[in-house]
Amino acid sequence: MLVDYNSLLLALGVSATCLAVTLVGNWFSRRPDTFLLTCAAGLVPLVGGIFIYGSYVDTPRPIFAILTFVLFFIGFSTIWMAGYQFRTRRLSKGRFLLGSLTGIVASVVPMLAGYDGLAFMSDNAIIGLLLLLTAREYWLSRHEAPTPLYGITILYTLTAISFGLCAGVLIADGKLVLGHAPDNWAEDFSLAICIAGMTGIGALSLALHQWRQAALHRHEAITDSLTGLLNRRALFDLYGHRSFGPSMAVIIFDIDRFKAINDQHGHAAGDLVLKLFGQELSVGLRPSDTVARLGGEEFALVLDNTLPGRAEQVAERVRDAFAAGTISVDDKSMVCTVSAGVATGTVKGLAFDDVLRAADKALYEAKRNGRNRVEVAAYLHAV
Ligand code: GH3
Ligand code: MG
Ligand code: MG
Repeated sequence: MLVDYNSLLLALGVSATCLAVTLVGNWFSRRPDTFLLTCAAGLVPLVGGIFIYGSYVDTPRPIFAILTFVLFFIGFSTIWMAGYQFRTRRLSKGRFLLGSLTGIVASVVPMLAGYDGLAFMSDNAIIGLLLLLTAREYWLSRHEAPTPLYGITILYTLTAISFGLCAGVLIADGKLVLGHAPDNWAEDFSLAICIAGMTGIGALSLALHQWRQAALHRHEAITDSLTGLLNRRALFDLYGHRSFGPSMAVIIFDIDRFKAINDQHGHAAGDLVLKLFGQELSVGLRPSDTVARLGGEEFALVLDNTLPGRAEQVAERVRDAFAAGTISVDDKSMVCTVSAGVATGTVKGLAFDDVLRAADKALYEAKRNGRNRVEVAAYLHAV
Protein backbone atom coordinates (compact mmCIF):
# COMPACT_ATOMS: atom_id res chain seq x y z
CA MET A 1 0.00 0.00 0.00
CA LEU A 2 1.34 3.44 -0.96
CA VAL A 3 -0.26 5.19 2.00
CA ASP A 4 -0.64 3.38 5.30
CA TYR A 5 -3.95 3.02 7.14
CA ASN A 6 -3.06 5.54 9.83
CA SER A 7 -2.16 8.22 7.27
CA LEU A 8 -5.57 7.71 5.65
CA LEU A 9 -7.20 7.99 9.09
CA LEU A 10 -5.29 11.24 9.63
CA ALA A 11 -6.52 12.54 6.24
CA LEU A 12 -10.10 11.62 7.21
CA GLY A 13 -9.74 13.36 10.58
CA VAL A 14 -8.32 16.53 9.05
CA SER A 15 -10.94 16.75 6.29
CA ALA A 16 -13.75 16.13 8.81
CA THR A 17 -12.40 19.00 10.91
CA CYS A 18 -12.29 21.31 7.86
CA LEU A 19 -15.83 20.29 6.93
CA ALA A 20 -17.12 21.02 10.44
CA VAL A 21 -15.58 24.51 10.29
CA THR A 22 -17.09 25.15 6.81
CA LEU A 23 -20.55 24.01 7.96
CA VAL A 24 -20.45 26.32 10.99
CA GLY A 25 -19.31 29.19 8.73
CA ASN A 26 -22.28 28.59 6.43
CA TRP A 27 -24.66 28.31 9.33
CA PHE A 28 -23.60 31.82 10.40
CA SER A 29 -24.81 33.17 7.06
CA ARG A 30 -28.34 31.79 7.61
CA ARG A 31 -29.04 30.75 11.17
CA PRO A 32 -32.50 29.21 10.85
CA ASP A 33 -30.92 26.30 8.95
CA THR A 34 -29.64 24.68 12.14
CA PHE A 35 -29.19 21.27 10.52
CA LEU A 36 -25.78 22.49 9.33
CA LEU A 37 -24.80 23.25 12.91
CA THR A 38 -26.07 19.85 14.10
CA CYS A 39 -24.07 18.16 11.32
CA ALA A 40 -20.94 20.06 12.43
CA ALA A 41 -21.65 19.09 16.06
CA GLY A 42 -21.78 15.45 14.95
CA LEU A 43 -18.43 15.74 13.16
CA VAL A 44 -16.61 16.90 16.32
CA PRO A 45 -16.91 13.59 18.27
CA LEU A 46 -16.25 11.70 15.01
CA VAL A 47 -12.93 13.55 14.58
CA GLY A 48 -12.04 12.72 18.19
CA GLY A 49 -13.01 9.07 17.59
CA ILE A 50 -10.94 8.88 14.39
CA PHE A 51 -7.76 10.07 16.15
CA ILE A 52 -8.28 7.77 19.16
CA TYR A 53 -8.95 4.85 16.79
CA GLY A 54 -5.55 5.63 15.18
CA SER A 55 -3.98 5.06 18.62
CA TYR A 56 -5.90 1.78 18.96
CA VAL A 57 -4.57 0.62 15.57
CA ASP A 58 -1.01 1.21 16.92
CA THR A 59 -1.63 0.05 20.50
CA PRO A 60 -4.79 -2.08 20.90
CA ARG A 61 -5.70 -1.09 24.46
CA PRO A 62 -9.42 -1.66 25.17
CA ILE A 63 -9.82 1.86 26.59
CA PHE A 64 -8.94 3.35 23.17
CA ALA A 65 -11.56 1.18 21.47
CA ILE A 66 -14.18 2.02 24.10
CA LEU A 67 -13.57 5.76 23.73
CA THR A 68 -13.73 5.37 19.94
CA PHE A 69 -17.09 3.54 20.17
CA VAL A 70 -18.58 6.15 22.50
CA LEU A 71 -17.46 9.08 20.32
CA PHE A 72 -18.50 7.37 17.06
CA PHE A 73 -22.00 6.57 18.29
CA ILE A 74 -22.51 10.08 19.67
CA GLY A 75 -21.26 11.47 16.33
CA PHE A 76 -23.26 9.23 13.98
CA SER A 77 -26.45 9.60 16.05
CA THR A 78 -26.05 13.39 15.91
CA ILE A 79 -25.64 13.20 12.13
CA TRP A 80 -28.81 11.10 11.92
CA MET A 81 -30.52 13.76 14.05
CA ALA A 82 -29.25 16.45 11.63
CA GLY A 83 -30.93 14.57 8.76
CA TYR A 84 -34.17 14.39 10.74
CA GLN A 85 -33.84 18.08 11.55
CA PHE A 86 -33.33 18.92 7.87
CA ARG A 87 -36.58 17.12 7.01
CA THR A 88 -38.79 18.24 9.90
CA ARG A 89 -36.96 21.33 11.26
CA ARG A 90 -37.18 19.74 14.71
CA LEU A 91 -34.55 18.14 16.92
CA SER A 92 -35.16 14.58 18.05
CA LYS A 93 -33.47 13.78 21.34
CA GLY A 94 -35.22 10.39 21.26
CA ARG A 95 -33.44 9.41 18.04
CA PHE A 96 -30.12 10.66 19.39
CA LEU A 97 -30.46 8.68 22.63
CA LEU A 98 -31.72 5.55 20.86
CA GLY A 99 -28.86 5.57 18.35
CA SER A 100 -26.04 6.40 20.74
CA LEU A 101 -27.13 4.19 23.66
CA THR A 102 -27.85 1.14 21.47
CA GLY A 103 -24.49 1.46 19.73
CA ILE A 104 -22.50 2.12 22.91
CA VAL A 105 -24.07 -0.79 24.84
CA ALA A 106 -23.76 -3.24 21.92
CA SER A 107 -20.04 -2.50 21.39
CA VAL A 108 -18.67 -1.47 24.81
CA VAL A 109 -20.16 -4.44 26.73
CA PRO A 110 -18.50 -7.15 24.54
CA MET A 111 -15.26 -5.10 24.55
CA LEU A 112 -15.25 -5.01 28.37
CA ALA A 113 -15.96 -8.76 28.38
CA GLY A 114 -12.87 -9.36 26.21
CA TYR A 115 -14.76 -10.13 22.96
CA ASP A 116 -13.21 -7.37 20.83
CA GLY A 117 -14.14 -9.18 17.59
CA LEU A 118 -17.80 -9.19 18.57
CA ALA A 119 -17.52 -5.54 19.64
CA PHE A 120 -16.27 -4.52 16.17
CA MET A 121 -19.01 -6.57 14.47
CA SER A 122 -21.68 -4.64 16.45
CA ASP A 123 -19.84 -1.35 15.96
CA ASN A 124 -19.75 -1.64 12.17
CA ALA A 125 -23.26 -3.07 11.84
CA ILE A 126 -24.89 -0.37 13.98
CA ILE A 127 -22.93 2.47 12.34
CA GLY A 128 -24.11 1.09 8.96
CA LEU A 129 -27.69 1.12 10.25
CA LEU A 130 -27.41 4.69 11.57
CA LEU A 131 -26.07 5.82 8.18
CA LEU A 132 -28.95 4.09 6.39
CA LEU A 133 -31.42 5.85 8.71
CA THR A 134 -29.67 9.14 7.88
CA ALA A 135 -29.92 8.38 4.14
CA ARG A 136 -33.66 7.73 4.65
CA GLU A 137 -34.20 11.22 6.10
CA TYR A 138 -32.71 12.89 3.01
CA TRP A 139 -34.56 10.48 0.70
CA LEU A 140 -37.85 11.46 2.32
CA SER A 141 -37.01 15.15 1.70
CA ARG A 142 -35.99 14.62 -1.94
CA HIS A 143 -38.87 16.68 -3.42
CA GLU A 144 -37.36 19.86 -1.94
CA ALA A 145 -34.15 19.83 -4.02
CA PRO A 146 -33.90 16.57 -5.98
CA THR A 147 -30.34 16.85 -7.33
CA PRO A 148 -28.37 17.43 -4.10
CA LEU A 149 -30.74 15.23 -2.08
CA TYR A 150 -30.41 12.22 -4.40
CA GLY A 151 -26.63 12.73 -4.21
CA ILE A 152 -26.59 12.90 -0.40
CA THR A 153 -28.87 9.83 -0.13
CA ILE A 154 -26.60 7.81 -2.44
CA LEU A 155 -23.43 8.84 -0.57
CA TYR A 156 -24.86 8.00 2.88
CA THR A 157 -26.12 4.68 1.50
CA LEU A 158 -22.72 3.81 -0.02
CA THR A 159 -20.98 4.65 3.25
CA ALA A 160 -23.56 2.54 5.12
CA ILE A 161 -22.87 -0.37 2.76
CA SER A 162 -19.11 -0.06 3.34
CA PHE A 163 -19.64 -0.36 7.12
CA GLY A 164 -22.02 -3.26 6.48
CA LEU A 165 -19.24 -4.97 4.50
CA CYS A 166 -16.80 -4.49 7.41
CA ALA A 167 -19.33 -6.15 9.74
CA GLY A 168 -20.00 -8.87 7.15
CA VAL A 169 -16.30 -9.78 6.74
CA LEU A 170 -15.82 -9.97 10.54
CA ILE A 171 -18.95 -12.12 10.95
CA ALA A 172 -17.83 -14.41 8.09
CA ASP A 173 -14.44 -14.84 9.82
CA GLY A 174 -16.31 -15.70 12.99
CA LYS A 175 -13.53 -14.60 15.39
CA LEU A 176 -15.06 -13.22 18.57
CA VAL A 177 -11.60 -12.32 19.90
CA LEU A 178 -9.14 -10.47 17.65
CA GLY A 179 -6.53 -8.87 19.91
CA HIS A 180 -6.01 -5.98 17.45
CA ALA A 181 -7.96 -3.59 15.21
CA PRO A 182 -9.77 -5.32 12.32
CA ASP A 183 -7.48 -5.44 9.31
CA ASN A 184 -9.05 -6.65 6.06
CA TRP A 185 -9.95 -5.43 2.57
CA ALA A 186 -13.36 -4.18 3.75
CA GLU A 187 -11.70 -1.85 6.30
CA ASP A 188 -9.47 -0.30 3.60
CA PHE A 189 -12.43 -0.02 1.23
CA SER A 190 -14.62 1.56 3.92
CA LEU A 191 -11.98 4.13 4.81
CA ALA A 192 -11.64 5.14 1.14
CA ILE A 193 -15.45 5.41 0.82
CA CYS A 194 -15.60 7.48 4.04
CA ILE A 195 -13.07 9.99 2.71
CA ALA A 196 -14.82 10.29 -0.67
CA GLY A 197 -18.32 10.17 0.86
CA MET A 198 -17.63 12.82 3.46
CA THR A 199 -16.17 15.24 0.91
CA GLY A 200 -19.19 14.71 -1.35
CA ILE A 201 -21.73 14.95 1.47
CA GLY A 202 -20.06 18.14 2.71
CA ALA A 203 -20.17 19.78 -0.73
CA LEU A 204 -23.78 18.70 -1.32
CA SER A 205 -24.88 19.87 2.14
CA LEU A 206 -23.58 23.33 1.30
CA ALA A 207 -25.33 23.16 -2.11
CA LEU A 208 -28.51 22.19 -0.27
CA HIS A 209 -28.14 25.17 2.01
CA GLN A 210 -27.81 27.50 -1.02
CA TRP A 211 -30.77 25.77 -2.70
CA ARG A 212 -32.95 26.41 0.35
CA GLN A 213 -31.86 30.04 0.49
CA ALA A 214 -32.62 30.56 -3.20
CA ALA A 215 -36.06 28.94 -2.78
CA LEU A 216 -36.74 31.20 0.19
CA HIS A 217 -35.76 34.30 -1.81
CA ARG A 218 -37.97 33.16 -4.72
CA HIS A 219 -40.86 32.70 -2.29
CA GLU A 220 -40.28 36.12 -0.68
CA ALA A 221 -40.14 37.78 -4.12
CA ILE A 222 -43.66 36.63 -5.02
CA THR A 223 -45.34 36.84 -1.60
CA ASP A 224 -46.95 39.76 0.18
CA SER A 225 -45.43 39.67 3.65
CA LEU A 226 -48.44 41.10 5.50
CA THR A 227 -51.19 38.81 4.18
CA GLY A 228 -49.13 35.87 2.91
CA LEU A 229 -50.97 36.14 -0.43
CA LEU A 230 -49.27 36.36 -3.82
CA ASN A 231 -48.17 39.88 -4.76
CA ARG A 232 -48.67 41.92 -7.93
CA ARG A 233 -45.46 40.59 -9.51
CA ALA A 234 -46.57 36.97 -9.01
CA LEU A 235 -49.95 37.74 -10.57
CA PHE A 236 -48.30 39.23 -13.67
CA ASP A 237 -45.88 36.27 -13.85
CA LEU A 238 -48.88 33.92 -13.88
CA TYR A 239 -51.26 35.81 -16.15
CA GLY A 240 -49.26 38.57 -17.91
CA HIS A 241 -48.81 36.45 -21.05
CA ARG A 242 -52.31 34.85 -21.07
CA SER A 243 -55.14 35.76 -23.40
CA PHE A 244 -58.39 36.15 -21.42
CA GLY A 245 -61.33 34.39 -23.07
CA PRO A 246 -64.94 34.37 -21.80
CA SER A 247 -64.14 31.65 -19.25
CA MET A 248 -61.60 33.87 -17.44
CA ALA A 249 -62.42 36.79 -15.18
CA VAL A 250 -60.73 39.29 -12.88
CA ILE A 251 -62.26 40.87 -9.78
CA ILE A 252 -60.54 43.83 -8.12
CA PHE A 253 -61.51 44.56 -4.51
CA ASP A 254 -60.77 47.83 -2.74
CA ILE A 255 -61.60 48.30 0.94
CA ASP A 256 -63.89 51.29 1.48
CA ARG A 257 -62.66 54.35 3.37
CA PHE A 258 -59.59 52.49 4.49
CA LYS A 259 -57.67 55.68 5.17
CA ALA A 260 -60.29 56.56 7.79
CA ILE A 261 -59.74 53.16 9.49
CA ASN A 262 -56.02 53.94 9.76
CA ASP A 263 -56.72 57.46 10.99
CA GLN A 264 -59.29 56.44 13.63
CA HIS A 265 -57.89 53.11 14.88
CA GLY A 266 -54.19 53.25 13.98
CA HIS A 267 -52.02 51.59 11.36
CA ALA A 268 -51.91 48.25 13.23
CA ALA A 269 -55.71 48.05 13.08
CA GLY A 270 -55.49 48.80 9.35
CA ASP A 271 -53.03 45.94 8.94
CA LEU A 272 -55.38 43.61 10.82
CA VAL A 273 -58.24 44.55 8.48
CA LEU A 274 -56.01 43.78 5.47
CA LYS A 275 -55.09 40.37 6.90
CA LEU A 276 -58.70 39.49 7.70
CA PHE A 277 -59.84 40.55 4.26
CA GLY A 278 -57.08 38.41 2.70
CA GLN A 279 -58.43 35.43 4.67
CA GLU A 280 -62.02 36.16 3.66
CA LEU A 281 -60.96 36.31 0.03
CA SER A 282 -59.26 32.92 0.25
CA VAL A 283 -62.36 31.12 1.57
CA GLY A 284 -63.93 28.60 -0.79
CA LEU A 285 -61.52 29.14 -3.67
CA ARG A 286 -61.06 26.50 -6.35
CA PRO A 287 -57.58 25.30 -7.35
CA SER A 288 -57.90 27.28 -10.60
CA ASP A 289 -58.60 30.57 -8.74
CA THR A 290 -55.74 32.92 -7.83
CA VAL A 291 -55.87 35.55 -5.14
CA ALA A 292 -53.29 38.33 -4.77
CA ARG A 293 -52.75 41.63 -3.02
CA LEU A 294 -52.14 44.22 -5.71
CA GLY A 295 -50.88 46.78 -3.18
CA GLY A 296 -52.30 49.02 -0.40
CA GLU A 297 -55.91 47.95 0.26
CA GLU A 298 -56.43 46.55 -3.24
CA PHE A 299 -56.75 42.84 -3.94
CA ALA A 300 -57.36 40.83 -7.11
CA LEU A 301 -59.03 37.51 -7.70
CA VAL A 302 -58.45 35.80 -11.04
CA LEU A 303 -60.93 33.08 -11.98
CA ASP A 304 -59.78 30.64 -14.61
CA ASN A 305 -62.04 28.11 -16.29
CA THR A 306 -65.18 29.67 -14.86
CA LEU A 307 -68.82 29.85 -15.94
CA PRO A 308 -70.46 33.13 -17.04
CA GLY A 309 -71.80 35.03 -14.05
CA ARG A 310 -69.71 33.18 -11.43
CA ALA A 311 -67.24 36.06 -11.02
CA GLU A 312 -70.06 38.42 -10.10
CA GLN A 313 -71.46 35.86 -7.63
CA VAL A 314 -68.06 35.36 -6.02
CA ALA A 315 -67.54 39.13 -5.74
CA GLU A 316 -71.00 39.49 -4.14
CA ARG A 317 -70.30 36.66 -1.69
CA VAL A 318 -67.02 38.22 -0.55
CA ARG A 319 -68.53 41.71 -0.31
CA ASP A 320 -71.49 40.43 1.67
CA ALA A 321 -69.43 38.27 4.05
CA PHE A 322 -66.93 41.07 4.73
CA ALA A 323 -69.67 43.62 5.45
CA ALA A 324 -71.49 41.14 7.74
CA GLY A 325 -68.45 40.52 9.99
CA THR A 326 -67.31 42.77 12.82
CA ILE A 327 -63.64 43.35 13.53
CA SER A 328 -62.52 43.88 17.13
CA VAL A 329 -59.67 46.26 17.87
CA ASP A 330 -58.79 47.25 21.45
CA ASP A 331 -62.20 46.23 22.84
CA LYS A 332 -63.93 48.27 20.15
CA SER A 333 -65.63 46.66 17.20
CA MET A 334 -65.94 48.06 13.71
CA VAL A 335 -67.62 47.11 10.48
CA CYS A 336 -65.71 47.40 7.21
CA THR A 337 -66.98 47.19 3.67
CA VAL A 338 -65.40 46.58 0.30
CA SER A 339 -66.22 47.53 -3.28
CA ALA A 340 -65.44 45.36 -6.29
CA GLY A 341 -65.08 45.66 -10.05
CA VAL A 342 -65.53 42.60 -12.26
CA ALA A 343 -64.26 42.13 -15.83
CA THR A 344 -64.40 39.02 -18.00
CA GLY A 345 -62.35 38.10 -21.06
CA THR A 346 -63.85 38.20 -24.55
CA VAL A 347 -64.26 35.68 -27.38
CA LYS A 348 -61.44 37.37 -29.29
CA GLY A 349 -59.25 37.28 -26.21
CA LEU A 350 -57.99 40.20 -24.12
CA ALA A 351 -54.58 40.88 -22.56
CA PHE A 352 -54.42 40.65 -18.77
CA ASP A 353 -53.56 44.34 -18.57
CA ASP A 354 -56.75 45.23 -20.46
CA VAL A 355 -59.00 43.04 -18.29
CA LEU A 356 -57.38 44.51 -15.18
CA ARG A 357 -57.98 48.04 -16.48
CA ALA A 358 -61.62 47.20 -17.22
CA ALA A 359 -62.08 45.74 -13.71
CA ASP A 360 -60.48 48.87 -12.24
CA LYS A 361 -62.92 51.08 -14.16
CA ALA A 362 -65.83 49.00 -12.87
CA LEU A 363 -64.42 49.37 -9.33
CA TYR A 364 -64.33 53.13 -9.78
CA GLU A 365 -68.02 52.98 -10.76
CA ALA A 366 -68.77 50.96 -7.61
CA LYS A 367 -67.10 53.68 -5.51
CA ARG A 368 -68.97 56.43 -7.35
CA ASN A 369 -72.28 54.62 -6.90
CA GLY A 370 -71.96 54.60 -3.12
CA ARG A 371 -69.39 51.88 -2.19
CA ASN A 372 -70.06 48.44 -0.62
CA ARG A 373 -71.19 47.20 -4.02
CA VAL A 374 -70.07 45.22 -7.07
CA GLU A 375 -70.04 46.57 -10.62
CA VAL A 376 -69.38 44.66 -13.83
CA ALA A 377 -67.22 46.14 -16.62
CA ALA A 378 -69.38 48.01 -19.10
CA TYR A 379 -67.67 46.68 -22.25
CA LEU A 380 -69.24 43.29 -21.53
CA HIS A 381 -72.59 44.65 -22.58
CA ALA A 382 -71.10 45.84 -25.86
CA VAL A 383 -69.46 42.48 -26.82
P1 GH3 B 1 -61.94 54.56 -0.95
O1 GH3 B 1 -63.17 54.16 -0.22
O2 GH3 B 1 -62.23 55.55 -2.01
O3 GH3 B 1 -61.18 53.41 -1.45
O4 GH3 B 1 -61.03 55.34 0.09
P2 GH3 B 1 -59.78 54.80 0.87
O5 GH3 B 1 -59.61 55.64 2.10
O6 GH3 B 1 -59.90 53.35 1.09
O7 GH3 B 1 -58.63 55.02 -0.19
P3 GH3 B 1 -57.30 55.86 -0.17
O8 GH3 B 1 -56.60 55.50 -1.44
O9 GH3 B 1 -57.58 57.31 0.08
O10 GH3 B 1 -56.48 55.34 1.09
C1 GH3 B 1 -55.82 54.13 1.09
C2 GH3 B 1 -55.00 54.10 2.37
O11 GH3 B 1 -54.39 52.80 2.55
C3 GH3 B 1 -53.85 55.06 2.35
C4 GH3 B 1 -52.66 54.27 2.91
O12 GH3 B 1 -52.07 54.95 3.98
C5 GH3 B 1 -53.27 52.98 3.38
N1 GH3 B 1 -52.38 51.86 3.24
C6 GH3 B 1 -51.71 51.40 2.15
N2 GH3 B 1 -51.00 50.29 2.43
C7 GH3 B 1 -51.21 50.01 3.75
C8 GH3 B 1 -50.76 48.98 4.63
O13 GH3 B 1 -49.99 48.07 4.28
N3 GH3 B 1 -51.19 49.02 5.92
C9 GH3 B 1 -52.02 49.99 6.37
N4 GH3 B 1 -52.42 49.95 7.63
N5 GH3 B 1 -52.46 50.98 5.56
C10 GH3 B 1 -52.07 51.00 4.27
MG1 MG C 1 -57.34 52.08 -3.18
MG1 MG D 1 -60.02 52.03 -0.57
